[in-house]
Amino acid sequence: MTTTKSLFTLAPLPYDIAALEPYISEQTLHYHHDKHLAGYVNRLNELILGTPFEGMTLKQIICQSSGPVFNNAAQVWNHEFYFNQLSPTPRKEPEGMLKAAIEEYYGGVEALKAKMTSDALALFGSGWVWLATDDKGVLCVLSKPNAATPLTEGLTPLLAIDVWEHAYYIDHRNLRADGVKALWEVLDWKIIEERYDAR
Ligand code: MN
Repeated sequence: MTTTKSLFTLAPLPYDIAALEPYISEQTLHYHHDKHLAGYVNRLNELILGTPFEGMTLKQIICQSSGPVFNNAAQVWNHEFYFNQLSPTPRKEPEGMLKAAIEEYYGGVEALKAKMTSDALALFGSGWVWLATDDKGVLCVLSKPNAATPLTEGLTPLLAIDVWEHAYYIDHRNLRADGVKALWEVLDWKIIEERYDAR
C-alpha cells in the first residue's frame, strides 16, 4: 500500500458552516466546500498518486503541471484561499499599506470593488477575478478562466472572487451580481491586508 502522508486533505472551514448567513447560506457552503472542494482534493490525490507530483506542495504542483493535475491542484489552492478570506465578523475596510496602495492604484476601496464586480460580471463562463500584487506592492486585478491563478505569473494573490456558478447559484440563481455583492459583506479586509504585508 502506498503511503498517504504526502497526499492532500480537505482543510476545514475556518468558521461554522452557517456562520456566513444570510450572505452565504449554509447550503451553499455545504456544496461548495464539502462537495466541490472535497471533489477537487480527492481527484488531485488520485491523479498524483505514484507520479513525481506526489510529495510536492500545492504551489509546486500548480507551477509545474498542466491539464487535469493543474486544474484540480489550482482549484484546491484557489478554494482554500477563497474560504480563508471570509469571516462572520469581517473588518469592512482595508487599512495601512494596503489601503494606501488601493488609493494609489484604484482611487479607493469602493472604486476597486466596483472594478472587480464589473470584471466578475464580464467574465464569460467559469473562472476567478483576482486582486494580486507583485513583490514591490504594485496591485493588479486579473480575470482568469476556469482554475487559472496569478501564482503562475509570479504574483501574490490577495483576494479572489469565485465566478463559477456553483459559488452563487443556490443562493442567487442566475444573478451573479447579487452573489458578488453578498461576498463583499463577508470579506475580511484584515486578512487581505495580512496577505499584502506578507508578500
Ligand atoms: Mn468554487
